[in-house]
Amino acid sequence: MDCIFCRIANREIPARLVYEDDLVVAFEDTNPKAPVHVLIIPKKHIPTNLEIADTDNALVGHMFQVANKIAGERGIAGKGFRLVMNCNEDAGQSVFHIHLHLLGGRSLSWPPG
Ligand code: 5GP
Ligand code: ZN
Repeated sequence: MDCIFCRIANREIPARLVYEDDLVVAFEDTNPKAPVHVLIIPKKHIPTNLEIADTDNALVGHMFQVANKIAGERGIAGKGFRLVMNCNEDAGQSVFHIHLHLLGGRSLSWPPG
């Protein structure tokens, strides 16, 4: 399996790491869409959110808690931010290893394009 985010998690290819623990890694998106654009991924390979199992519930909850922590550190928690997980073609998912986009630092329009 050739998964770019597994390779980042395994430190086989470089990324600007923001956070790491036993379960997750967070790093700067290479093509940021906002002043803050961090990706939070599980170390476990899960292709899309459709494959999240009951046994992954704590892992996914942890991804949100890590996102909150980073939002606090970046000073965007109070003004607000967006967490996005794209699923499959219509949402524009391009990397098939689940990731939470943490977007903030500017006003974000709604609905998204
Ligand atoms: P998706 O479109 O799947 O929701 O989001 C994938 C994201 O991963 C995109 O925002 C893209 O810029 C980012 N990305 C793709 N390849 C790499 C990479 O090699 N390194 C980093 N840091 N981000 C990447
Ligand atoms: Zn992977």
